[in-house]
Amino acid sequence: MTTRRILDLLRTGQPEESVTIQGWVRTKREQKEFCFVEVNDGSSMAGLQTILSQDLPDYEAIVKKLNTGASVEMAGVLAASPAKGQRIELQVASVTVYGEADPETYPLQKKRHSFEFLRDIAHLRARTNTLGAVFRVRNACATAVHQFFQERGFLWVHTPIISANDCEGAGELFTVTTMNLKDVPKTKEQEIDYSQDFFGRRAFLTVSGQLEAEIMAMAFTNVYTFGPTFRAENSNTSRHLAEFWMIEPEMAFCDLIGNMDLAEAFLKHIFKSVLEACPEDMQFFNDRIDNTVMVTAENIINNEFERITYTEAIALLEKADRKFEYPVSWGLDLQSEHERYLAEEKFKKPLIVTDYPTAIKAFYMRLNEDGKTVRAMDILAPKIGEIVGGSQREERLDVLERRIEELGMPKEELWWYLDLRRFGTVPHAGFGLGFERVVQFMTGMTNIRDVIPFPRTPLSADF
Ligand code: ATP
Ligand code: MN
Repeated sequence: MTTRRILDLLRTGQPEESVTIQGWVRTKREQKEFCFVEVNDGSSMAGLQTILSQDLPDYEAIVKKLNTGASVEMAGVLAASPAKGQRIELQVASVTVYGEADPETYPLQKKRHSFEFLRDIAHLRARTNTLGAVFRVRNACATAVHQFFQERGFLWVHTPIISANDCEGAGELFTVTTMNLKDVPKTKEQEIDYSQDFFGRRAFLTVSGQLEAEIMAMAFTNVYTFGPTFRAENSNTSRHLAEFWMIEPEMAFCDLIGNMDLAEAFLKHIFKSVLEACPEDMQFFNDRIDNTVMVTAENIINNEFERITYTEAIALLEKADRKFEYPVSWGLDLQSEHERYLAEEKFKKPLIVTDYPTAIKAFYMRLNEDGKTVRAMDILAPKIGEIVGGSQREERLDVLERRIEELGMPKEELWWYLDLRRFGTVPHAGFGLGFERVVQFMTGMTNIRDVIPFPRTPLSADF
């Protein structure tokens, strides 16, 4: 007999003559003549209520084994339930206990555990209500990402994880090496001699797939990456991981307007899809984690995003009837408090800020006619601040070369990037968004470590 997913049984809610389920015991309540056992298989937040009656062969011995965490297979009659809050329950005819879980030592007993505590037992925490809901939402969100782009004919491209270019010269790199660390080869100048390393040059874990995505967009028109990204940032914040997943679409024959339109449609699509795919989990987050989760999602789905320039944003911030911790003036980057003021108080919905000063943005962004701003865009959302960062890219060879020289960047190393402007260059644009930030935003989880199964952060790479 095939085993059934508990989610499917609960959604249908219909009695059936004969059903088999498998899963882990969440709770056990012993009565005089019965024992109620809730079994969860991870397919949904709610488990299936099962009832074992005394008539069951070996009743006492079996019930003794059915402690929280034990793994079981149960078969029986799925019957209409007299109890409140559930339509069906399993009247158990046979039980197999695969593995017991000792109640004295199994760490996940019924009481509420702090997220900090659960991080230390990341090998077990996926069995809790909250983390279970997080990882189901994360899956729905990833599915929605692919669905959105695939429906629009974007090619999913796999950009390298080991890379020799550090995209924005951002620092924060993890070096990949096979050199003997006890005896590192040195050059005459006493520098580390990477020419003797595995790749014959210094290599890193990638911080972004954008430049490679640009290469692919110059052949396939519309592409996207969705893969792991690494930053050795020693900032212990609730929004930064050393290993996170990034989504980076790149579109040829596309300007900043097209880029903004796509990003807005994209965010609306993933919120809508997740609400449809995981209604119970989303309701749980709204009830138990952050009671603004639903309104925030509706806000994204139903409102047209506001669009203003950086210069307009600065003017609004200067006029704001409140004091900011960080200074506001044309030329300075927007801080989180500024972004949140604009999104949460001024517009009360997501907004897209465009045309930032050249000096605070990356070298590849397209220079505007005014000579002092670039075709950049950031999407700022209530409760979270920056969620998307993107730009129209500089497609003019001479302008790009000038920028690279001004910044003192190693032009020779970017020869292939410049070739894209030499051979069949086109206006193109794209954006990047941190996948965990979206999941965080969607679920209201305050710490980014709790939206990825196995977080990598400074001094922590367990599991
Ligand atoms: P931040 O200012 O928050 O550090 P950033 O400017 O360094 O972000 P980008 O280089 O633009 O970010 O990266 C693109 C996206 O990747 C960001 O919008 C953000 O969503 C996400 N992101 C960046 N760094 C991290 C990180 N360490 N952990 C998780 N997500 C990140
Ligand atoms: Mn950063």
